[in-house]
Amino acid sequence: MARLPTLRPTLRTLSTRSVVAIRGDAMVRSAKPTLDFYGSAAWKAIRLEVQRACKRTCQRCGKTDTRIYVDHIIELQDGGAPLERSNLIGLCAVCHGKKTAAVRLERQGRTGSGFVSLD
Ligand SMILES: [Zn+2]
Repeated sequence: MARLPTLRPTLRTLSTRSVVAIRGDAMVRSAKPTLDFYGSAAWKAIRLEVQRACKRTCQRCGKTDTRIYVDHIIELQDGGAPLERSNLIGLCAVCHGKKTAAVRLERQGRTGSGFVSLD
């Protein structure tokens, strides 16, 4: 019987410079300072405040009885105030995903005219 060749490992060691973490309702892919922010007591407190105010209703599409993702209207990396209530909105998963994708496209200089006109 022929011997099978030894296979080299196909998985490489992950870099510790980039971290993906899921904390609460925020998926964060970034360097450590942002992870620290989303893990902070201050963020958790205001996130809970927004979620309670929304009463499981998306503030954009009106979907009810849904999980609320607290979103920075002006994102942190665009200079938005991290803990300012007026910069926070409670969105359903679909609206949060659309908004995040649109902002990302705008940041990359492609089309996308902002949060108001995503539909
Ligand atoms: Zn929605």
